[in-house]
Amino acid sequence: MECKKNYSAIMEKIAEYSHMIWSKGFVDGNGGNISARADKNVFIVTPTLFSKRNVSARDLCFTDAAGKLLPDLMEEYGQNPGVRPTSEFMTHLAIYSSSPEIRAVVHTHPPYVCSYAFTGYVPSEPLSPESAVWMGNLAMAAYAPAGSEKLAFRVEAMAKGRNVLVLQNHGLVAWGRSVEEAYWRTEVTENHCKVCSIMESRNAEPRRFTKQEMEELEIMKSKFVKSNGNE
Ligand SMILES: [Zn+2]
Repeated sequence: MECKKNYSAIMEKIAEYSHMIWSKGFVDGNGGNISARADKNVFIVTPTLFSKRNVSARDLCFTDAAGKLLPDLMEEYGQNPGVRPTSEFMTHLAIYSSSPEIRAVVHTHPPYVCSYAFTGYVPSEPLSPESAVWMGNLAMAAYAPAGSEKLAFRVEAMAKGRNVLVLQNHGLVAWGRSVEEAYWRTEVTENHCKVCSIMESRNAEPRRFTKQEMEELEIMKSKFVKSNGNE
């Protein structure tokens, strides 16, 4: 008989990090969403029209790789009736399709990232070891409506070789091998944008890593991040 997987731990993780992105001020209103690839054709995703402040494991949606609800799993885990996956799940699926190694996606609207996303410019160069390792070169996908096919195409085209992406006039999307890792990337990217914004307001010129320093950081990164499948 086939051994059944237990998804409770990953559901709790998604709920925990949903509360985290809300308490950090990285999302507003019903904004932001988190998903995980729990199995080949099983995704667990935050529901639409819920604040991330108190979303619970019971509010999460099980879907297949096309974003369709899986009623059997919904029932088996006693999920709350009436919940529907986030309308932005198509963007998540575009990221998952870029590499089988990606297990989780965190989408947020962090204020400092948004302060750049709402312009045509992002500070792309990492200036700290953390941003070199967890963020890499920051890029921005040109504006397309949230949850649209157009945005999914754009994100899919840019996801390879990256772990975070700024969405113009919208926010940030970060991914990794776990919800925790995708969250770290969110936090590191927001901090990078915050410090860059402070430096710009002072007209302070950043000290850039030398080529050799970048190479050393790349070695460090490969130790942490190599198995991402996105390198
Ligand atoms: Zn959004």
